[in-house]
Amino acid sequence: MKITPFGAVREVTGSCYLLETDKTKILIDCGLFQGGQFAQAKNYNDFGFNPHDIDAVILTHAHIDHSGRIPQLIKRGFTGPIYTTPPTKEFAKLLWYDAEMIMAENQRKFGAPVLFSKEDVKIAVRKLKAIDDSGALCFKDLQIQFHNAGHILGSAFIEITEEGRKTATFSGDLGNIDTPILKQKDALNKTDVLFIESTYGDRIHEKKAERWQILENAVTETINQGGVLLIPAFALERTQELLLELNNLAEKKRIPHVDIFMDSPLAANVTDVFRSYPKYYSISAYNQMVGGDALFDFPGLTVTRTRDQSKRINDSRWPKVIIAGAGMMNGGRIQHHLVRYLSDPKCTLLIIGFQAEGTLGRKLYSGQKRVKVLDEYVTVKANVVSIGGFSAHADQKMLVSWIRSAKKRPPLVYCTHGEEHASAALATRITEALHIEAKVPRPGQTITV
Ligand SMILES: [Zn+2]
Repeated sequence: MKITPFGAVREVTGSCYLLETDKTKILIDCGLFQGGQFAQAKNYNDFGFNPHDIDAVILTHAHIDHSGRIPQLIKRGFTGPIYTTPPTKEFAKLLWYDAEMIMAENQRKFGAPVLFSKEDVKIAVRKLKAIDDSGALCFKDLQIQFHNAGHILGSAFIEITEEGRKTATFSGDLGNIDTPILKQKDALNKTDVLFIESTYGDRIHEKKAERWQILENAVTETINQGGVLLIPAFALERTQELLLELNNLAEKKRIPHVDIFMDSPLAANVTDVFRSYPKYYSISAYNQMVGGDALFDFPGLTVTRTRDQSKRINDSRWPKVIIAGAGMMNGGRIQHHLVRYLSDPKCTLLIIGFQAEGTLGRKLYSGQKRVKVLDEYVTVKANVVSIGGFSAHADQKMLVSWIRSAKKRPPLVYCTHGEEHASAALATRITEALHIEAKVPRPGQTITV
């Protein structure tokens, strides 16, 4: 078989591999390029192959940098099925409609061209096919096996064997250890080649023990000074982890009772999907749920879906906690709350996720004292706190130990889905520690297995 990566090589976003045999052409992921303007402009380019020729898409997980160009693939002529896990099927639908809505709004406001329409999303959703519990799929001359990647609910790494020939494995994104809701990732099977993500290929995460202590302190201090705690959150996985942690703190009475608002319709819909798939939970989360705990719901929590409900948060009494998207603060309902509360020294902004260069979140994270939000200049007097070491991705040590503990170690590894220095650092480490040939491919480079 031949494998060509067309995105997420020497960069983090735009995951897309073309896998070809004599009989079949499939894609593994088809994600959006995200980040600065240069990266985003690439979404308007050709794919590097003809979408008409592709027989199917295999989707590792719903994150938009892995799934976001699928409606555009359809717009440009792809007509095949999209195979994925049941939760990913539901998340992809929610994220695609949300992306379309944001693009349509940007078109109205700034005249920015859209990548796909609501109609394209509708067709893409109809083409999503959920695999069964075995995770196994036969497609033409390919045997495809989905395994749990432990990154977000329903995320998978994918093993693909050409009938009677070689096997290639695609890691998708691999989870951190000790994620509160998810099961640990499965072990790596025998494979002839492994394509592994390297987002944190050059880093070791900080200890996670302190991170929720910071959350507890932020909530307690905000209540003590009668302020407002703002937590910008990513709708998928991070928000549910945050809700579960707040739930546990509230039930163990480690934080006093306070009104907590989750002000994001997307996060609310995503949380509903989480509730429908307890069989994907870790043992501790599952047992907690079986014991009668609602996990993502607890006294004091109000979920606001409509615009009017969102506006009413302003009139509610202090102290309070508001969780709202977008995670990097460059859009979404969090902006309205930032305008209102950032200039108040009794308030706190708690940053719990990665803030990309150029975003409002990055400016606040870096300590800027005057920022522009929704066409208004705001002087930052609120306390800005961040929780580091929090990531849905495995770090270098975890990636290496995942390969080390494989049932049989692969003879060849390609490091992708990382900035160039991170991928190179992981490749070097794999070769040093495991004596395996490891390389960083180039975009569009065809690898024959
Ligand atoms: Zn991901």
